[in-house]
Amino acid sequence: MKHVETIIIGAGPCGMSAAIELKNRGFEHLIIEKGNIAEAIYNYPTHQTFFSSSEKLAIGGFPFITEAHKPKRNQALVYYREAVKHFDLNINMYEEVTSGRRNADGFILETSKDTYSCTYLIIATGYYGQPNRLDVPGEHKEKVSHYFKEAHPFFKQDVLVIGGKNSSVDAAMELEKAGSNVTVVYRRNAYSKSVKPWILPQFDSLVRHEKIDMHFGTGVKDIKDGSVVLEKDGEVFEIPNDHVFAMVGYHPDYRFLQSFGIKINENEFGTAPLHNPETMETNVENLYIAGVIAAGNDANTIFIENGRFHGGLIAEDILKKHEN
Ligand code: FAD
Ligand code: NAP
Repeated sequence: MKHVETIIIGAGPCGMSAAIELKNRGFEHLIIEKGNIAEAIYNYPTHQTFFSSSEKLAIGGFPFITEAHKPKRNQALVYYREAVKHFDLNINMYEEVTSGRRNADGFILETSKDTYSCTYLIIATGYYGQPNRLDVPGEHKEKVSHYFKEAHPFFKQDVLVIGGKNSSVDAAMELEKAGSNVTVVYRRNAYSKSVKPWILPQFDSLVRHEKIDMHFGTGVKDIKDGSVVLEKDGEVFEIPNDHVFAMVGYHPDYRFLQSFGIKINENEFGTAPLHNPETMETNVENLYIAGVIAAGNDANTIFIENGRFHGGLIAEDILKKHEN
């Protein structure tokens, strides 16, 4: 069994930021990542533009400079690859942590390739791997996706987009541009305040010009092979459908967190792993969380912009423990 003082699970921006902060304080680290670095960003829509400006996505003070104010997905992938090289981070890629437990000295991790022990553990596994479910018949059909990549395959297709925040609005606009016949259903009766203010007017203009068929206060009752059944104010109606994008958000892998003894409770954001926001240590001693995972099921409170600073809090706390 290999021993490393601090293991970080997940090489997203926030896991990598934690590694840099540990390295800056002279601590040994290993990141174990089930894909390649920045796997969630790699899985974003191909043409995604970030809502953050590049300097707010930078980690470890390594400059992220782009000509435009807000970078695109590909530019961020280049940046994070360069950051890994610059800081010479220690990352095992394509190795999944499958289970873990506490022992008297720290933690034991089983991965798809090996077994490790560590004194400090940082879980930075994000939420993008676990889409929220709709709990409606037909949800598991092949034509239902929880991720949007590109619009071209949906040219002249009847597409339903479910959800009312940034992923659904972005996907609907890109689909409309590519010539899809787009219907959007949102369970609330008005636009969400989470939709970025520079995006909403463009989306609303498409709705007002009847380029996108928007239904507020509407739910999905059934997803059939060639249609979807919707319900609005008690009225049930059916529309033709070739594909469904259920952009209904994502959540952390709570079972994985609970298997280490982390408590999941209600906080001001909703359901989230119990932790001290000043140190990011959970209710399990020496076990920390970093990044968007800390927000639990509310994806609109922690982003790279603020989650990138969790690593500094954690490294400082570990430093204090060393000094005592
Ligand atoms: P992630 O980047 O999700 O990293 C988690 C990593 O853990 C992944 O690489 C995953 O493969 C790995 N992992 C998971 N489970 C295991 C396991 N068992 N073993 C090993 N590895 C594992 N935020 C902003 O600040 N600005 C933006 O403009 C912005 N735009 C966004 C656009 C989209 C479309 C989305 C979906 C999110 C956006 N966000 C943005 C939110 C935030 O960027 C992402 O959620 C970000 O990737 C979170 O970083 P993270 O390091 O916390 O987690
Ligand atoms: P999200 O913000 O969690 O929004 C999910 C949407 O789905 C909400 O409108 C929610 O309704 C709805 N919903 C949830 N469960 C549902 C259910 N069972 N049935 C019907 N509707 C349901 O998810 P997201 O839009 O994918 O965004 C995730 C993260 O990515 C956020 O941090 C976001 O800011 C970020 N993002 C950024 C960009 C960008 O940078 N350009 C683009 C896309 C996403 P309620 O509104 O009622 O909660």
